[in-house]
Amino acid sequence: MDLLEVPAWDCELPAVEYPAFQTGKPCKKQKSRTQDGHQAGGKDRPGSAGGQPHPAAGGATDPEIEAQLAKHHTSRRKEGSGLLEQMRARLSGGHFRWLNEQLYTTTGDAALEFMTQNPSHFNEYHKGFRQQTSSWPARPLDAAIARLKQLPASYKVADFGCGDAELAASVPQHVSSFDLVATAPGVIACNMAHVPLGDHSVDVAVFCLALMGTDYPSFLMEAQRVLRLGGFLWIAEVSSRFQSDQGQTAAASTRSNAAGKFVKALQISGFKLRSTDARNKMFVVWELLKAKQGASFPNTSAWPALRACTYKKR
Ligand code: SAH
Repeated sequence: MDLLEVPAWDCELPAVEYPAFQTGKPCKKQKSRTQDGHQAGGKDRPGSAGGQPHPAAGGATDPEIEAQLAKHHTSRRKEGSGLLEQMRARLSGGHFRWLNEQLYTTTGDAALEFMTQNPSHFNEYHKGFRQQTSSWPARPLDAAIARLKQLPASYKVADFGCGDAELAASVPQHVSSFDLVATAPGVIACNMAHVPLGDHSVDVAVFCLALMGTDYPSFLMEAQRVLRLGGFLWIAEVSSRFQSDQGQTAAASTRSNAAGKFVKALQISGFKLRSTDARNKMFVVWELLKAKQGASFPNTSAWPALRACTYKKR
């Protein structure tokens, strides 16, 4: 498997091999991926490394680390809990990275099914997410908050992939918040490819690090539907997801083919690019305006496959 590392996420630790993503449906064997990250020969469905259930499903964890934890617990109890805590943190970090990878490499529907069946994974994911982004020089969510504070308080906002709905709690506008699991008041649990909002009913659609599924264009298509003419589409995404080479700067990555193709597809969808902000090392922000009502939505081939964060193979 062609593994890559997205620098924005700390993907160094641990070298834990998790089996592939499980949903309620039987898994097929993992298909090989083409260079651009699409699965060869078929739909982008979660694959399986031999159909093993994920060890963390239902609260269990990686057996190797758990065995080490148990051994440590009995033999070194007197020496305090330092190492134990370290190992738990490592386990938790591995769990976050595994979940992160799954969300990037599966469809919105499969992610919804998985998270609905295993809501504890969602909390674990967000714990890790907050830990990771708190070490970034700036958080994209703060950029979204700052931008919304410049816009009229009467605007209606849709936050696609809202996490714990910090955006809704931080801005003067009414925000409709959508995510796979509702962990904060007001959040609607759904696959954001289908949100319960009327056509042309919102002024701003926000995607803050939320274009995670392999079928991410379906999320943007939904934003195109719910945005009014003249409404804003605000997107922040990890820069390295658009890179073709490791080590490119954020500015170079926004000039890359993937970023160009991404913006072009949005333009075909009726959006006009207002600004690109690639000053931040970790993420790029695009702001677009819905300039056309009823523009067609380009098919899958018009959109670039965005790079996923996966483990660094040891
Ligand atoms: N926007 C928040 C959270 C970003 S993490 C912030 O910046 O703090 C990305 C979020 O997108 C996760 O909470 C994940 O569950 C959500 N997400 C990914 N795919 C989704 C989908 N298909 N439908 C709804 N939410 C999704």
